[in-house]
Amino acid sequence: DPADQALHDAVTGAPGPRQRRAIAKAITLLESTRDDHRARADELLNALLPATGRSFRLGISGVPGVGKSTFIETLGLYLIERGQRVAVLAVDPSSSVSGGSILGDKTRMERLSMHERAYIRPSPASGTLGGVAEKTRESLLVCEAAGYDIVIVETVGVGQSETAVAAMTDLFVLMQLPNAGDDLQAIKKGVMELADLVVINKADIDESAATRARAQITSALRLLGQHGHPEHARHDIKLWHPQVLQLSALKSRGLDEFWAAVTHFRELQTANGKLTERRHAQDHAWMWERIDAGLKSRFRHHPAVREALPELSREVRAGRIAASVAARRLLDLFH
Ligand code: GDP
Repeated sequence: DPADQALHDAVTGAPGPRQRRAIAKAITLLESTRDDHRARADELLNALLPATGRSFRLGISGVPGVGKSTFIETLGLYLIERGQRVAVLAVDPSSSVSGGSILGDKTRMERLSMHERAYIRPSPASGTLGGVAEKTRESLLVCEAAGYDIVIVETVGVGQSETAVAAMTDLFVLMQLPNAGDDLQAIKKGVMELADLVVINKADIDESAATRARAQITSALRLLGQHGHPEHARHDIKLWHPQVLQLSALKSRGLDEFWAAVTHFRELQTANGKLTERRHAQDHAWMWERIDAGLKSRFRHHPAVREALPELSREVRAGRIAASVAARRLLDLFH
């Protein structure tokens, strides 16, 4: 399709208003639920693929109010000053639950969004976490093809959204407030284990609380590193021990230290091959995640399954047939 070829060329072409419009158009295409759009989006993604992979993918998460948008704006402007181009994407599955978005449609990151070297795209509006994450993951590839040096993927901790974002980024940052309690939450939820870097924000409000939090989280991470489930222990301790930094997004303090840590991580992971390894593992896991989701959806829509499902469900509820037997019968109908 010549129109899609033009779209591809504009996305991979020179930065500027034309490229910006093309990126928006490409992302709109891949967010569409229409089958013909999906087919075109698939073609486009594959065509863009050779131009992807050169960005650094940075995940950022934290509870509402921790200062994510303040930090991303400060960091984005900091990076732009250093010659980088920055794209910001989001994963917010809450909108499908609550009808409103937690990350918000409010004007966020106003200064960054006006900058020509930045591209900001809000979270896909609706769908399951898997669906929202899929669109964001594909949007990330579009931004990479457009040559953004850093792609930031932001999320608020709803459901498993942190896991989804950690699974599509090279480095995952967990933002914390300088009071204990939140850290316990993150540990309980298993989010702490995902973090490559923990950032304690708002250190300007209470420096000593931030320092205490830093010590607490550092020892918590050490314990997790020693006793965590091996599958979760993504870090070879000798290579990278997750670091805890404190900063102030509002006062732009601590950014040099933060970016130095990110750069150090990136260089280390690149030199030892872990960066590529992680991306391959992510792609593989992602493929299977989407196969699982796709199979389930096809199963539910399968005519024979749809026909037999109500009756079998009734039989299970009435206790006349075991749940596992019903599942097997339904699966046998699915070809
Ligand atoms: P988000 O919900 O995580 O995106 O948080 P926001 O970036 O919207 O910040 C929530 C509030 O905290 C806003 O009023 C910010 O101005 C404020 N805030 C963010 N970072 C800092 C900081 O480093 N220090 C102080 N004192 N306030 C901050």
